[in-house]
Amino acid sequence: MPSEKDGVMIILSSPSGAGKTTLVKKLSEKDNYKISISHTTRQPRPSENPNKDYFFVNEFEFKRLINNQEFLEYAKVFNNFYGTTRTPVIDNLNKGKNVLFDIDWQGADQIKNKKLDYKLITFFILPPSKEVLFERLSKRHENDILIAKERMKQFERDVLHWINYDYVVINNDLEECYLKIINLIDAVTNSGSKDYDIDYIRAHVEKLTS
Ligand code: 5GP
Repeated sequence: MPSEKDGVMIILSSPSGAGKTTLVKKLSEKDNYKISISHTTRQPRPSENPNKDYFFVNEFEFKRLINNQEFLEYAKVFNNFYGTTRTPVIDNLNKGKNVLFDIDWQGADQIKNKKLDYKLITFFILPPSKEVLFERLSKRHENDILIAKERMKQFERDVLHWINYDYVVINNDLEECYLKIINLIDAVTNSGSKDYDIDYIRAHVEKLTS
């Protein structure tokens, strides 16, 4: 049975290139925070460790997990399947650990709609400008500028989901963005004062989409 001592579910989503994965890793270094390790059908990148960054599985195994109803949420993102299995998440929450989810807006919607008995805080991370985003994406995909351009187009669609999140944070400086997220989690869980200006965010999104 969920109780006051249970951990909190913290979702971070963002368009590709906003720096969310780095933020999630930094948050997970805090005491009592655990990352939910997703399953995916995409190929591992050279820098990734199986069973640490992702559980890499084939489509057959992924479909088996869907049929066994093991996923809390799953979605197709950029032609690959990604999903969060339920058991490790619930186990960690019941042990009082805060669970971090690095998932897209489709997964965030599904978890929100499940209305689980655990506290949920959702964050959407934005880049400081379209120019900075393009620079980051070009660096990441330096061998294929077409991928960077495709991700920029995807950005225009993904950014529209900001409205469904509890908080939107701009990642101009990693440390500053991290502290803002920590402050907001603390404010929500301990009823402290929130340093959050929705009008500023709305204006920023308008600039990003104009
Ligand atoms: P990448 O392939 O770059 O690691 O991730 C691509 C996108 O899939 C990112 O937006 C990431 O947050 C999202 N993602 C990763 N794991 C999951 C998951 O378990 N569920 C959902 N819905 N999205 C995920």
